[in-house]
Amino acid sequence: MAIINENFLKLQAGYLFPEIGRRRRDFEAKNPRVKVISLGIGDVTQPLAAAVVEAMKKAVGEMGRIDTFRGYDDGGVGYEFLRKAIIENDFESRGVRVEPDEVFVSDGGKCDTGNIQEIFGRDNIIAVTDPVYPVYVDSNVMAGRTGAADKKGRYERIVYMPCTAENDFVPELPREPVDIIYLCFPNNPTGAVASKEILAKWVDFARDNKAIILFDAAYEAFISDADIPHSIYEIDGAKEAAIEFRSFSKTAGFTGVRCAFTVVPKQLKAHTKDGRAVEVNPLWHRRHGTKFTGASYISQAGAAAVYTSEGKKQCRQIIEIYMNNAALICESLGKLGYKVYGGVNAPYVWMKTPDGLGSWDFFDRLLQKANVVGTPGAGFGPAGEGYFRLTAFAKPDDVKEAMERFAAV
Ligand SMILES: *Cc1c(COP(=O)(O)O)cnc(C)c1O
Repeated sequence: MAIINENFLKLQAGYLFPEIGRRRRDFEAKNPRVKVISLGIGDVTQPLAAAVVEAMKKAVGEMGRIDTFRGYDDGGVGYEFLRKAIIENDFESRGVRVEPDEVFVSDGGKCDTGNIQEIFGRDNIIAVTDPVYPVYVDSNVMAGRTGAADKKGRYERIVYMPCTAENDFVPELPREPVDIIYLCFPNNPTGAVASKEILAKWVDFARDNKAIILFDAAYEAFISDADIPHSIYEIDGAKEAAIEFRSFSKTAGFTGVRCAFTVVPKQLKAHTKDGRAVEVNPLWHRRHGTKFTGASYISQAGAAAVYTSEGKKQCRQIIEIYMNNAALICESLGKLGYKVYGGVNAPYVWMKTPDGLGSWDFFDRLLQKANVVGTPGAGFGPAGEGYFRLTAFAKPDDVKEAMERFAAV
């Protein structure tokens, strides 16, 4: 008899995006002539940068000739040309030293943030922000690190750190013991960022408690304020406290191409139950080499082109399109009297629902009156109730029209 992993039965139905889709389809069936605009899903809309397309075309050509064909990438950790470009451009340029064998190229930040928990013991107490990117929670539920969920969808044995307007959407340090802390800045869904001082506080906390921070920097390219750190390693001592996740998905429009990377510093140590310190880097290397074979040569060649001078310029122009959208959303909603957060260093605008409406009630009102779809904050966790997420990853004309329609709400 095959027994299933019963932890999967604890998972709360991933109902957010299916439910949004269902309500939208219902509305469209009843109102066939109305054009609904979506500022809902966190996926890019602009085409790839020309430099990336050219580099991938060239890579395809190489794969079609006997003298330049490539098979498995050696060890699956990423081609040296890409890891070198990553180190020079993302880290050395910001005064951070990262070694090539600390960088693990993969096909996604979602899989890396979901898989990393495998190298840590089952008894660790996980801390997450509320609202949260669901991958951090669900991957730990699947691994059996939690109990059952309560009525609000909070799992037993997870420490939730509420992020609301009262704390500027930056969590307080936990009062109870925690071992693994997931942080995401710039944040999805709130668009909040963490200053150097805030990250330093977390790094100190992790070091004092022998905890590890899992830092998701998928949106670092959207930072516009010069004093906001792009990498947690800009903080002294962070290489002894944190793993960092990056992705080309949002920074270079790679959601359909697939390329990302994770930095696991060689200084970073976790402990055996009897207190012996163990380096984390070789464990992730082993996990990666055993269960992953590498991102395709073609996507890695495309990713390397993001760091060429043409690629940088073109990717920056694409990000500016999204950030102009974000600025228009913030400005328009501000004028209409809404309280809006984020949207300055992140492609997400997090708004307070008006009139004390619940997130889903506002979703329905916006769909009915403005024919605009967004994402109910409650879908990211109980502390997201009463908030609503709008994404800047839409076509500028759609954003403009959506903002005009907001006036009717
Ligand atoms: C989009 C996103 C990622 C990147 O996911 P990929 O698998 O690389 O496409 C990572 N973290 C967060 C919070 C995201 O929103």
